[in-house]
Amino acid sequence: MSEQHKFFLPENELPTSWYNILADFPEPMPPVIHPGTLQPIGPEDLAPLFPMSLIEQEVTTDRYIDIPQPILDVYRMWRPTPLIRALRLEEALETPAHIYFKYEGVSPSGSHKPNTAVAQAYYNKIEGTKALTTETGAGQWGSALSLAGSMFDLPVEVYMVKISYQQKPYRRSLMKIFGAEVYASPTDRTNAGRAILEQDPDSPGSLGVAISEAVEVAATSGGAKKYALGSVLNHVMLHQSIIGQEVMKQMEMAGEEPDVLIGCVGGGSNFAGFVSPYVREKIVNGKDTKIIAVEPAAAPSLTKGQYVYDFGDTGEMTPLMKMYTLGHSFIPAPIHAGGLRYHGMAPIVCHMYDLGLIEARAVHQNPVFAGAVLFAKAEGIVPAPESAHAIRAVIDEALAAKEAGEEKVIVFNLSGHGHFDMSSYDAYLAGKLVDYELPVEEVEKALAHLPQIA
Ligand SMILES: *Cc1c(COP(=O)(O)O)cnc(C)c1O
Repeated sequence: MSEQHKFFLPENELPTSWYNILADFPEPMPPVIHPGTLQPIGPEDLAPLFPMSLIEQEVTTDRYIDIPQPILDVYRMWRPTPLIRALRLEEALETPAHIYFKYEGVSPSGSHKPNTAVAQAYYNKIEGTKALTTETGAGQWGSALSLAGSMFDLPVEVYMVKISYQQKPYRRSLMKIFGAEVYASPTDRTNAGRAILEQDPDSPGSLGVAISEAVEVAATSGGAKKYALGSVLNHVMLHQSIIGQEVMKQMEMAGEEPDVLIGCVGGGSNFAGFVSPYVREKIVNGKDTKIIAVEPAAAPSLTKGQYVYDFGDTGEMTPLMKMYTLGHSFIPAPIHAGGLRYHGMAPIVCHMYDLGLIEARAVHQNPVFAGAVLFAKAEGIVPAPESAHAIRAVIDEALAAKEAGEEKVIVFNLSGHGHFDMSSYDAYLAGKLVDYELPVEEVEKALAHLPQIA
């Protein structure tokens, strides 16, 4: 216990550029395709939804992109975030492994999401956008974008997945404090929402449906409103690379090299941002770091999905992306990790997986919460249920290291805190969480309806 706990980077060592893994992939990413023409999309196809600087960041293969000063100024409100050695967790597990976590829960909204929200609000503001629309699952992304909107004086309209709107009333309050308008999705404000409500008036909603609603509002606003996505897209992964770049410097301070890197994946952004500088080391310098993406067994796109072209949303409003998917019409069971209930996965993470640069693992929610409670007791931080998926895999890896008598260095991204997730913890402690099995026939049905693209 006499060893150093926390590794703080001074503010003047905050990375001043984002790292773009597209520059280093050994094979280019499959193109994003227009669902009408089946041709690769161009900037003009995305212009109704995104400002041009973000569209450029979506496709650039420049290795480093300078972070504009106004964004750095907001980042410095909480960045660099700490890297912490989980000494008490190591002790509780009696493992010889060294466990470190990067703690993104110190941001004002409690997760990694402001890293991209602040960037997106900034670029929209300077390009003249009048308001942003977005979806949110557990409310983390909605809170982050609401915060970012208030930083740059940009109104924000949030479509919040209905089950989370009901389970997480205080996330809703936080968004309203930051000045956003919040709606329970599916709503009757959009064609996409009305279509779902017609089929199922009690629909719990899903990220896919909420995305359709937010996209529709922006696309039909005549350019006044633009859309902001909290994950999946390349520019989001780019902005999150601030995490992994800081971790690299901090592991240097700790004087250790990670053997294993672990992150949870919903749309893939905290994971990609955390691991991409290390994936570069694998590609460029032949490092053999084991890198594990952890997903929920209720939405196991990497481990149970197909690598095909699919829509990013349920209402078929988005371009087609090649990704590991369960089918855009598949609505995952209402697990208590709203941020992980997504049918697809970031194309960048899928490309890493397809190239064998990362591994994937699916975990059930009861073992996830058991791990979260063990972590909270040992380290004093209540993790977000999403982040707890990573913790489950960390514990399993640390126990395997104990079994093998190996002093492995395990580093994970603690993507957020769970202070707004107490109802989920209550449900777990009361023994009310269900370990949903994936409804294989429903997934097969959803996959059978995908557009056939070679
Ligand atoms: C949104 C969220 C996630 C999942 O999103 P990714 O894009 O996969 O990172 C994970 N953890 C927390 C705390 C979140 O808020």
